[in-house]
Amino acid sequence: MKCIMCKRDKENLSEEHVFPDAIGGTLVLFNVCKDCNDILGHSVDHHLTNHWLIQYQRSLLKIPGKSGTIPSPFKGGVIKKTEQKVRLTSDDEGRVKGYLMPSIKKEKNSDNTFEIEAVFDKQDKEKIPKMMDKILKRQGLGATYSEIDKKIIEGNLLEPININIELDQVKYKKAIMKIVYELAHYWLGENYFNDPIGEKIRKYIKSNDFSDDIAGSIGLFRKEEKKLLNLWEDEPLYHMAFMQKSGKNIIIYIKIFNVFDGSVILSNNADCYHDFEPKFISINPVTGIKRESNIYEEIVRRRKKNERD
Ligand SMILES: [Zn+2]
Repeated sequence: MKCIMCKRDKENLSEEHVFPDAIGGTLVLFNVCKDCNDILGHSVDHHLTNHWLIQYQRSLLKIPGKSGTIPSPFKGGVIKKTEQKVRLTSDDEGRVKGYLMPSIKKEKNSDNTFEIEAVFDKQDKEKIPKMMDKILKRQGLGATYSEIDKKIIEGNLLEPININIELDQVKYKKAIMKIVYELAHYWLGENYFNDPIGEKIRKYIKSNDFSDDIAGSIGLFRKEEKKLLNLWEDEPLYHMAFMQKSGKNIIIYIKIFNVFDGSVILSNNADCYHDFEPKFISINPVTGIKRESNIYEEIVRRRKKNERD
């Protein structure tokens, strides 16, 4: 069988998750070879699965990665006034919790004594004597925590925290184009091997360049501009895609959670696909349950649901 990524004949094609496993994708195809599969994982998929907005959604829905850990989108912040470093984590409900990283300041007094100002998180209260012993030893001050004069002030953190978030605006698009390309092969069949637009998309996915001239747009999800999406109002976070014909073009719409979406022209030779049928897929990212149908069946599904409710 031919691999759709390198177009070479390969003995065994490996398991390829069209929507990455790490975002709950359960559509698995066997049309990509092992070598291409590895390359896609390293150099394409991760731009999507590790994108800050996607990580945040994964942490809210508790979707673990390959290692089994649920990503934490909050790496750290700094309290604005004091420059104290804070490590941020999100709890089960997605609330952000801060942990004050221990910090110390040492000053020498005119009488040759030292003053140390140490700041600890409340969570570390019990451990302070041990932590201070270590600090004193590291500073070479020849005294233990029990031997020094100390003043303990308990306080609360009410200062604003500065969080720096890096948002990639380009690279994740290539990972979404990979999904689009694989869906095109899945839905349009062997003919898609010869489609000039398919070839352009394949080269773009395989290149190291992130600039593209693919017809269509992928970006941040904005529901208000798309009335049709009301059909899936009951499934706001599902991954979904559907393919339609429009004149000579075949167009695909794709949505990842409610984070990214866009439309891409898959082909402008619609007439070459004699058995063309409109297609639809949605995947519940938490349960992995997928629904494959077409837009007309989806309209009926919505109507029936409205009648029930
Ligand atoms: Zn290959």
